[in-house]
Amino acid sequence: MIKGFRHILFPEVCISCRELLDTEENFICTACFAEFNPFPGSGAGGEALKRLVREHFSEDQVPSDAWCLYPYRNSGQLHDALLALKYGGIFPIGALFGRKLGELIASGGQHAPFDGIVPVPLHPLKCIERTYNQAAKIAKGISGVLRVPVLDKLLVREHYTDSQTGLTSSARRKNVHDAFRPGRLKCPNRLLLVDDVVTTGSTLIAAARVLRESGASSVAFATVALTEKE
Ligand SMILES: [Zn+2]
Repeated sequence: MIKGFRHILFPEVCISCRELLDTEENFICTACFAEFNPFPGSGAGGEALKRLVREHFSEDQVPSDAWCLYPYRNSGQLHDALLALKYGGIFPIGALFGRKLGELIASGGQHAPFDGIVPVPLHPLKCIERTYNQAAKIAKGISGVLRVPVLDKLLVREHYTDSQTGLTSSARRKNVHDAFRPGRLKCPNRLLLVDDVVTTGSTLIAAARVLRESGASSVAFATVALTEKE
C-alpha cells in the first residue's frame, strides 16, 4: 500500500526501456526481463558454465555444481542492466538477479545445499571507488531465497587488478592468479561462490582455490551471465 502510494508520487521507470513500471515491478519491467533470454531449462546455464571452465582449465577445477541465468553478449538489454549494476549505481538489480539465481538453485529441489554464500570480493580501493560490490548484492539476493548466510569475510582481494576486459585467457589467469587470500574467518565446508559475469572462469577458479586451501570441501559457482564467445 505504501509502495503503491509512493509510486503515484514518484513514478519509476524501467532502467532499460525507460517505460513506466507497474507497481509490482522493480527497476526492470517484465518485458525487458523477458528479453534477457535465459538459458532454456533449469540445468542448461550451469552446464554451459561448467563447459566454459572446462575449455580453459583442467577437469579437477570444474565445479560439481554450477548455475547461470543468461548467455551474455556485449550489447542489448542484459548488457545495459549489467552495466547499470556494475557501474551505474543501480545496485538493487543485483538483488533481483540474485533472487532469480536463488529460485533457479531451489528449483533443483536441493534446499540449502550450502553453509555459506561467498561473493567474489573487489579490492577494498575499488569497492570505495564504486561504493559497493555488485557480487555482494547478487549474493544477498540468493541468500534471501535459500536462507543461507552471505560470508563476505572469507576472501580478501589483495591486488588491485586491472579490468579483465580484452585480455586473453592466459593473461586473465595470470592477472588474477594470486589476487585473493583467505580472510580471518574459519572456512565452512560447502560454499557457493558468486559473481556477475564470467568470461573464462579465471577469477572464480582463483577464488575457489583459496577457499579450498582454507578448508572448504566443495565450492559451487553461481553467476548471472556468461560470455559465450568474445
Ligand atoms: Zn523495460
